[in-house]
This record gives sequence, structure tokens and C-alpha cells, in this order.
Amino acid sequence: MYDPKSLKAEEFIDNEEILETLAYAEKNKDNAELIDEILEKAEKRKGLSHRDAAVLLDCTLEDRNQRIYELAKQIKKDFYGNRIVMFAPLYLSNYCINSCVYCPYHRQNQHIPRKKLTQEEIKAEVIALQDMGHKRLALETGEDPVNNPIEYVLESIKTIYGIKHKNGAIRRVNVNIAATTVENYRKLKEAGIGTYILFQETYHKESYEKLHPAGPKHNYAYHTEAMDRAMEGGIDDVGLGVLFGLELYRYEFAGLLMHAEHLEAVHGVGPHTISVPRVKKADDIDPTAFDNGISDEIFAKLIACIRIAVPYTGMIISTRESEAVRARALSLGISQISGGSRTSVGGYAGYTPDERPHDTEQFDVSDQRSLDEVVNWLMKLGYIPSFCTACYREGRTGDRFMSLCKNGQIQNCCHPNALMTLKEYLMDYASADTAAVGNKLIESEIPNVPNEKTRGILIDNLNKIEQGSGRDFRF
Ligand code: SAM
Repeated sequence: MYDPKSLKAEEFIDNEEILETLAYAEKNKDNAELIDEILEKAEKRKGLSHRDAAVLLDCTLEDRNQRIYELAKQIKKDFYGNRIVMFAPLYLSNYCINSCVYCPYHRQNQHIPRKKLTQEEIKAEVIALQDMGHKRLALETGEDPVNNPIEYVLESIKTIYGIKHKNGAIRRVNVNIAATTVENYRKLKEAGIGTYILFQETYHKESYEKLHPAGPKHNYAYHTEAMDRAMEGGIDDVGLGVLFGLELYRYEFAGLLMHAEHLEAVHGVGPHTISVPRVKKADDIDPTAFDNGISDEIFAKLIACIRIAVPYTGMIISTRESEAVRARALSLGISQISGGSRTSVGGYAGYTPDERPHDTEQFDVSDQRSLDEVVNWLMKLGYIPSFCTACYREGRTGDRFMSLCKNGQIQNCCHPNALMTLKEYLMDYASADTAAVGNKLIESEIPNVPNEKTRGILIDNLNKIEQGSGRDFRF
């Protein structure tokens, strides 16, 4: 029985409800009258139910599809402006006792080297990341209570926050580790994590069990209910995602939105972010072995429909995707991207920008550009790369962050913060060309801060950063 308020996975992600939703969407995919009604609702920018959104995803009317894309672009602009938050993944360990059939770290893989970073090695990785200019990381580990116990993750977080190298500092550590207990989530919260990210992989229970044939991750309910435990443990910001390609994308889309509705219904706050990974080639993994791969066109439509359905949720795209795919995704709704990423354990320190260790890699990286190249590219596309971590540091998490969005104060808060953190990046890490492009961009963006007083403080702070007499400012 479908119940978004239930704490049972099979009730808030009810299979029957998803199947009925898909049938409803299929039946109405060219129902112009209904689609127009849904688009009118969507134009109010308050989001859509999974049923309404599923109809838009299936819509076959070309002119309505153009309206969907236009609306997604508009919502993206209204809620996120032209800021794009930057981050990088940091792989701590690829020891894993699960058997996820799409992941090279699965325990049956005997030939992949297993590696776990020591605290000294983490320090070296973090210094390399700071030297690129990163301020925000996503920690990644396999699931292995012996090799990667929670104490190891906590110690690593402490190490990371403690490293101050030159002007560098990691100011927000997001964590992508396997589903765990309320007690462990509480410990992660106390360690000062930003977002807890856990991809559902697939919402389809039967497929989920086949794709995770053994190990703790086999337990669908435990995995699906993880965000409720995380919130019970005090973590306000959680990040959802599915691994597109494993199951039918329409099914995953409905499941994802139902999960968001569930979090809103139970905890009063929806997901902080949604990620949209697609299965990639990796050691021992052939993505064509999965039947449900999606085209770039469908991928773009999914992103646009998620943007419309949950306007307050940030959206993340990784370097799994190429430059071209990322460019389109950015315009349709993505608000956070990684840059200069390495998906191997110990992939940053000791390598030149052109050297890329493949031995412990989790998947092939399509966008292999350096952070400087990505930042430069973003600015030439008219975006402001932002290294801002202010909300988290000011305690504006969960519904407090959402109210900032809902009160329309983003432009007086996020916008100047983005410009100040970009200025620091340009001063400390950028190539000459990137610095020139960036300084021009900052000049042209100052007038876009609506509040006069805030604008004055911003100009003052930018001057201080330029003169070296102050930094790390935030609104
Ligand atoms: N081990 C943790 C867990 O079980 O949730 C999460 C960390 S894992 C390093 C991060 C994510 O990478 C997984 O949740 C999965 O969606 C994704 N992933 C695994 N194999 C992949 C592949 N071949 N291509 C693309 N993404 C993959």
C-alpha cells in the first residue's frame, strides 16, 4: 500500500504505485490538454508530483517538449542563477565486501589491486586537491567493516579538515559511503560532514536484489531506508541518485521523485541534491551488458524533468559524462559539477595533470580536463564557478537552506559568495588566461547583486582578497 509517510521502503517506494504511474504516463503521453495543465502547475515553480512529472517525461508532443526544456532552463536560472558549485571526489579505499555487478570493486574481482589510503596518504591527496583549488570533496569508499570501519572514515574526515596548506582548505566534506546505522550517521554528523550521499542504484526491488546478489548491500529495505536513518542521526542534507542504465529509466524517475516526496512528508525537507550517474565502462565491467542504457537525448530530458519536479533540489553531474553532455546538462538544471577528478584510490598526489592511474579506478572518466580547464570553460559559457561552502559553515542546512531559496535571498547571498570564492581561486590557483577571463566576469557580475549594501561589502571584500589583506569572507 503506497504511503509516502511510511518508514517502510516497500510502502514509500510502492511498486504498484510506480507501475500505475507509468501506465498513466503512457496513456497520457500525447494528451495535450493534460500536459498543458501540468505545465501550468510547473510554471508556478513549486514542483510536481511524481505522477505529473512522469507524464512530462513521456510526453511525445514536440512543441510541449520544447516548453519543458525552456521551463527547466528558466527554473534553473531563477533558482540557481549562473553559479555552478565545484567539487572533487576523493577515493579512500576500494576494499569492498559487496558484489554489485556493475562495480569493479565487487568482491569477486580478484585482479583489481585493493588499496586503502593511510592518513599520511590522505594528507598528500588533500594537498594535491587543495593545490588544484578545491574546497569541497566527496569522500568515497567501498563497504568493508574490517578495512573501512566508521572509525577510519571519521579519522579521515578529521585529517582532511585539519590540513591547511598555503591558502588551501577543504571547507566541506560530503560523504558517499554505504548505508549504515543511526549511530554511525550521528558520528558522521558530529565529524562535520556536509551532505550524506547514497545512490539507490535502482528502486526496482527485484532488480536491486539481482544486481546486489550478496553482501550487506543486498538488503533492499536497509539501503532504501538509509536516508531516514541519516536524518534521524541528525544529518539534514542528504543526496539521492540512481545509476541510470541498470533499470528502466521511467521506473527510476518515478522512484526517485517518490523518495523525495517521502523525505519531505516525513522530515519536512526534501533531498539537498540529486545525482544522475550513468553506468560506465570499468575494470571487469562492460556497460553494454546492461540492457537499459539511455541515450544522451533521454538523459537530457530526465535532467530537465527532475529540475521542474524538484526546483529546490541541487543537481550533480560527475566526470562520468563528456564535456558536450555536461554543457547541455548545465543549461537544463545541473548546479554542481566535479572537475579534475580521479576515481582511483590515491589518484591525485604524485601525478602530473596528464598522468592518470587506472589500476584502482572505479570507472572511466569521460571529462578528463584539469580543474583550471573546467573553470575556464564554465566561465566562457557564462557560468560562475563557485567554491562556496558558506551555507554549511553558517549552519544553513536542511530546511534553513530551503527557506533561503524560498525567500529569494539567493542572489544577495550565494551570488556574492560565489564571486568572492572565485576571486580567491583566481588569485591562488588559476592560469593567466583563466584569471583574466575570471576577473572580467567578476566585474560584470557585481551589478547583479540586488542589495546595495551587500554590493558595497562585496566590492570591499574583493579588493581585500586582491590586496591580500583578507579572505574567506561569506554572507
Ligand atoms: N560503496 C558505496 C555504496 O555502496 O553506496 C558508495 C561509493 S561508490 C564508490 C559510488 C557510486 O559509484 C555507487 O553508488 C555507484 O552508483 C557508482 N558506480 C559504481 N560502479 C559504477 C560504474 N561502473 N559506472 C558508473 N558508476 C558506478
